[in-house]
Amino acid sequence: MSDQFSYKNDELFAEDVSISTISKAVGTPFYLYSATSIIDNFLSLKKSLDGLENLICYAVKANSNIAILKLLSQLGAGMDVVSIGEYLRAKVAGVPGEKIVFSGVGKRRDEISQVLIGGIKQFNIESEAELNVLNEISLSLNKRTSITIRVNPDIDAKTHEKISTGKKDNKFGIPINRAREVYLKASQMLGVKVVGVDVHIGSQLTDLEPFRMAFIKVAELVNNLLKDGHEINSLDLGGGLGISYKKTNDVQPSLQEYGQIIRETVGSLGCEILVEPGRFIVGNAGILVSEIIYKKFGEDREFLIVDSAMNDLIRPSLYAAYHEILPIKEPNNNSSFVCYDVVGPVCETGDTFATQRSLMKMESGELLAFMSAGAYGSVMASEYNTRPLIPEVLVKGDNFSIIRARPLVEDIIQRDIVPDWV
Ligand SMILES: *Cc1c(COP(=O)(O)O)cnc(C)c1O
Repeated sequence: MSDQFSYKNDELFAEDVSISTISKAVGTPFYLYSATSIIDNFLSLKKSLDGLENLICYAVKANSNIAILKLLSQLGAGMDVVSIGEYLRAKVAGVPGEKIVFSGVGKRRDEISQVLIGGIKQFNIESEAELNVLNEISLSLNKRTSITIRVNPDIDAKTHEKISTGKKDNKFGIPINRAREVYLKASQMLGVKVVGVDVHIGSQLTDLEPFRMAFIKVAELVNNLLKDGHEINSLDLGGGLGISYKKTNDVQPSLQEYGQIIRETVGSLGCEILVEPGRFIVGNAGILVSEIIYKKFGEDREFLIVDSAMNDLIRPSLYAAYHEILPIKEPNNNSSFVCYDVVGPVCETGDTFATQRSLMKMESGELLAFMSAGAYGSVMASEYNTRPLIPEVLVKGDNFSIIRARPLVEDIIQRDIVPDWV
C-alpha cells in the first residue's frame, strides 16, 4: 500500500493532511487521492522501462478524473481510452491526440468519426467488422488511420475471471492464429495503416509469467508479420499490472521484473513499446473515507453500518474484492478488537464491504478508510438508491482540493422528465 497514507499523531494522514481535517471540510463519504503517490507510481514504472523507446498510456477507465489525467499528462503520459467520453476528458486534460490510443470491442461509428477528427495516435482494432467500419469512415474523411490489431493469445492471466481478457473464450481481440490473415486484409485497405500489434490479457496480474507467455506469442507473430512484408513499429502490451490490496501476505509484482520480461521477449524487435497501466498507477493512491452511522447487533455478529455503499465502491460485491479497512483514529495498546461485518445502507445483501473483519472497537460517528480504492472505485459508482455520486479530493503535501463536487439530490431528481400524458 502507498506510504502516503500513514498514522501521525494518532490519526491517519494523507500525505501531510489529517483525514479528519478533510472530512470536516468535505463531509463523508468521499474519495481521497494522493498526488505524490500517483506521481511516484508513474515514475517508477517509467524507470522500469528505461532503455526501451516507450510511451505509458494510462488507462483512463481506472480513474478518469481530469485533475488526475492532467497530473499524469504533465509527466509525459499518453492515455488509453475506451469511449468518446474518455477521449474528451483526456483532451480537456491537455493530452495531445498523438498520445491517445483508442481501445475497446464496441466502438460506435459516431465515436470513431469524432476521434478521427480530433486526432489519435492509433486505433487498437478488436474485430474485422470494426476494421471495415474504421476503413470506411477514414476514407470518407480522407484519412489513413494508424492501427494495431489486438490479438487474443489464449493465455490464462491467472486473475479473477471477470477481469481476465486473454483466453480464447473471452470477447476480446482476434484469435492470434487468425491474425496474419486479418493483417493481410488490413494492409490492402487504403483508409488504415498497420503500425503494430496490441495485446491485453487481463487485470490485477500478480504473477508475471502470463505476461511473458503472451509477449513471447506476440514476438512470434511480429516475426511472421515482418516476413509477410508488414511494417511493425509499435507494440502495445496492454495494462494489467497488479497491486497489493493487503497489508500482509500479498505480493506486489516487481516492476523491475516486468521491465525485464518486456526486454527479454520483445525488446530486440526495434519497436516503440506502449503499456496501458490503470490500476497500478492509481489503485493504491486512493482511499474511500466513510463515517459509521450505526452499530447494530445481530444474532451472532456485530454490524458497522457506514455511509458509503456498493453504489460508491462496487468491487467487494462485484469481484468479492478485499479492501483493507483502517480506522482514522490510530489503534493503540489499550484498544480492544472486535470482528465486524462492515456494510452500507443499500437494500441488497451484496452491499457488504467486509465480513467478520477484525477492527479496533468502533463507535458510531467515527471514520473508516477503505484502502486501495483509487482504481475502479469512483468510476464504477452509480446513483442506485438515489444516492448522489460522492466527491473526490486530491492531496499534495499539505494542500488538498475537491476535484469533483458532491451533486445535490435536487439535481438528480430534476433530470427525470414526467411526460404531460402521465
Ligand atoms: C482495462 C484495460 C487496461 C487497464 O488495465 P489495468 O489492469 O487497470 O492496468 C488497459 N488496456 C485495456 C485494453 C483495458 O481494457
